[in-house]
Amino acid sequence: MYENKTIEEVCRQFECNGRTGLTQEEAGIRLEHYGKNMLREAKKKTLAQRFAEQLCDSLIFVLFAAAGISIMLHEYSDAVIILAVVAMNAVVGVIQEGKAEKALESLRKMTKLEAVVIRGGREMTVPAEELVLGDLVVLDAGRQVPADLRLVQGANLKIEESALTGESVPVSKSSTFVAASEVQVGDRKNMAFMTSYVTNGRGCGIVTATGMATEIGRIAALIHEAPEEETPLQKRLSDLGKVLSLTAVFLCALLFVLAVVQKRDVMEMLITAISLAVAAVPEGLPAVVTIVLALSVTRMVKAGTIVRRLPSVETLGAVSVVCSDKTGTLTKNEMTVTACYLDGRIREAPAIEYGKTGNRLLTCFCLCNDATEETGDPTEISLIRLAGTGGIRKEREEREKPRYAELSFDSDRKMMTTLNREGKSYVSYTKGAPDEVLKRCTSIMKDGKVQPLEGRDRKKIQEAIETMSGRALRVLAGAMAEGVTKPTEKNLVFLGMAGMIDPPRDEAKAAVEAFKRASVRTVMITGDHVDTAFAIARQLGIAEEKGQCISGAELERMDDGELKKRIRNAAVFARVSPDHKVRIVRALKSDGNITAMTGDGVNDAPSLKSADIGIAMGKTGTDVARQASDMILTDDNFATIERAIEEGRGIYENIKKSVIFLLSSNFGEIATMFAAIAAGIPSPLKSSHILWINLITDSLPALALGVDKNDGSLLMKKPPRKPGESLFAGGGWFYTVFYGLLIAAISLAAFFRVPWEVVTGRGVEFSLTAVSAVLREEAVLCRAQTYAFTVLGLSELFHAVGMRNVEVSIFRSGLFTNPLMAVAFAAGLCLQFAVTEIPFLVDAFRTAVLSPGEWGFLLLLAAVPLLAHEVIALVKTITKR
Ligand code: ATP
Repeated sequence: MYENKTIEEVCRQFECNGRTGLTQEEAGIRLEHYGKNMLREAKKKTLAQRFAEQLCDSLIFVLFAAAGISIMLHEYSDAVIILAVVAMNAVVGVIQEGKAEKALESLRKMTKLEAVVIRGGREMTVPAEELVLGDLVVLDAGRQVPADLRLVQGANLKIEESALTGESVPVSKSSTFVAASEVQVGDRKNMAFMTSYVTNGRGCGIVTATGMATEIGRIAALIHEAPEEETPLQKRLSDLGKVLSLTAVFLCALLFVLAVVQKRDVMEMLITAISLAVAAVPEGLPAVVTIVLALSVTRMVKAGTIVRRLPSVETLGAVSVVCSDKTGTLTKNEMTVTACYLDGRIREAPAIEYGKTGNRLLTCFCLCNDATEETGDPTEISLIRLAGTGGIRKEREEREKPRYAELSFDSDRKMMTTLNREGKSYVSYTKGAPDEVLKRCTSIMKDGKVQPLEGRDRKKIQEAIETMSGRALRVLAGAMAEGVTKPTEKNLVFLGMAGMIDPPRDEAKAAVEAFKRASVRTVMITGDHVDTAFAIARQLGIAEEKGQCISGAELERMDDGELKKRIRNAAVFARVSPDHKVRIVRALKSDGNITAMTGDGVNDAPSLKSADIGIAMGKTGTDVARQASDMILTDDNFATIERAIEEGRGIYENIKKSVIFLLSSNFGEIATMFAAIAAGIPSPLKSSHILWINLITDSLPALALGVDKNDGSLLMKKPPRKPGESLFAGGGWFYTVFYGLLIAAISLAAFFRVPWEVVTGRGVEFSLTAVSAVLREEAVLCRAQTYAFTVLGLSELFHAVGMRNVEVSIFRSGLFTNPLMAVAFAAGLCLQFAVTEIPFLVDAFRTAVLSPGEWGFLLLLAAVPLLAHEVIALVKTITKR
């Protein structure tokens, strides 16, 4: 409907001004009255729903069945224990999930959209949520439209509306258009709709609808957030979980058959079989991975990176090539003009004699410019400052020679052009990459006079470009065309050039070096000149010789096969346009690399999407780039990528440790049970014991391993892990089986110690039959089971401490460097102590109360895995030497 109205009508209806916007006060009142500009979010789950979700798990059903069987057998305490453990596990699960969600929620808040509005005549940035009807919103290339707008101004404005119309080709918009009748959304050329993207040009518009009243809000079904993806690791772990569950079922069936053959109590064996199944399934795994990833995401925010997709944290650790923009990421983006090329000569700033040509050049740089002396693109700011030193002020020039039309800058053309009125006629001014501008020039200004541009002049200009670029200067040329009525980029008059220095970031060099040590390649990708790019790349240690540079033009000439070959040695891509970046990423990926790629512009979205990790710039990046990225650098700093990769590697290590810990512990439990039952003696652990260890004492150490602090310098000395590498690579299976067997061995040893004492005490010869016989006595079995239970529970605590670094002594990695591990150890010890000392727990778990002497013995036995760890560490150190 607003598409049928003129700008004046819309302004009148919303009681606003099409030039100065609303007043800040009025905006505040309207916000209060109409509410926030927000799309309805998916409903939050209630606490009850969360619990229900935790309980809806096949494993939990098995446990319920076990509880039911226990009740049938009048084993009420067992049933209570099983149910209590299930409940505790659900509580822990809900807490963990809540924590993970909170972390992700706060991330979402950080990436909330901002909008540029004009209020009270002043341009300002506000959260998009605070836009109100009648607000005047500014749009420019790369920005997401923050509400439905009736355009009041627009220059080459093009908007991509695929979210609404399904049409991915950007639509040209026009503020002067007024639709005569009702038209489809795609044809409302004077409107811009919430969540669409500006791909070209600039403009502004009045907010006509916010929140759920917008076009996108009406198709509310679309808005539900994309479901959380499982990360590759989570997928692999759930696959592993399935395999283990199947194995467990098979083992249990086998055991059950065995028991029937051995003529044991069928019901009791059923419960034992079920508890064994519970022992075999690593139920803690998925939860540990989720919480560990979520916690690391929170940590990464502090280090300057916002992770938008959880799987990226994992992928980060495998990155083997980092492709980075130059300007602003590897350099400071603090531009200062240090030299100019005028009238056939390079002149050094600040003492430049401008003369007539120079004054024209400065006028060109001021008029063909969207910055102010303080705000805007640093390249443009430096040109305004340069003009200032030559006595030419931007405001005055713009007042005298107002802009009538423009062709805005884009990274493909690498130039921009404006049409300004001078007296009675118009002049078109162009500034941009000198090689590109020069191609479009046919004349040149010398001492204020326009002359034909000859081969000699071109050669001289080319030489000057090379000299200036070789000094790491970014060079921009200025040109003009007189007697035109439209902005033009043809038959231009060459005016001159300015060369500006943009110093490399101090931290970037160290980061490049760190990457080298970590076998991660750095590749610079820039729109700048080859020589400028190479000069900076050499300063940063990215490239050593010119042969490592490939220009956009060369790239065009190569086919994919050749590119794939050349890319192995390439370190710099210069004068490339955004679509080249996609080819570069593809070539790197097809060569087996995991590629991270930075980007900030509208046209960078495809390359950010095709990279394994797309990294958008938080400060200078556009909304489009941010939406397409996996990760955002809040400080635009290259060195931050290094920290992110280190974090990614650390996370992978930690998850690996957690997984191996949990699996070896489960394996230990199964081996203990299986060995005893196969040998025909009573089961060394009650089902409640296994549940207790698995779901209670094991969880904390596993989590502590998940958040372990790794030695960053050590992590960054290794090459990146290979994509698709198994979690068990590098000895993982060995450690799982070895520690599992060791834990089983000591648990069984503890178990046998009781009947052994009884048998030898009675003067009977020690044999399996004798042991079986005394174990039939209730008190003996109870004590023996308590021994096995205690040693199993405690040994896993000791085992966890060693797992922090399987190859290094705990004294070298530090006893208290992981505070959570210390807490987990102490808590586990207390819990284990409680089950054998606190009367009602003793009754429930049917344990025996232990004497201090017994405790000492069991503690020593339980410490064996840690002792084994120290021996392995010692051997590793000696063999390394
Ligand atoms: P990077 O890709 O590393 O950020 P870049 O900033 O040079 O490098 P682009 O922004 O694509 O990349 O710019 C490409 C070229 O266009 C620049 O080298 C410069 O010559 C020219 N250029 C940059 N900004 C402007 C501008 N505001 N007006 C005119 N020309 C520009």
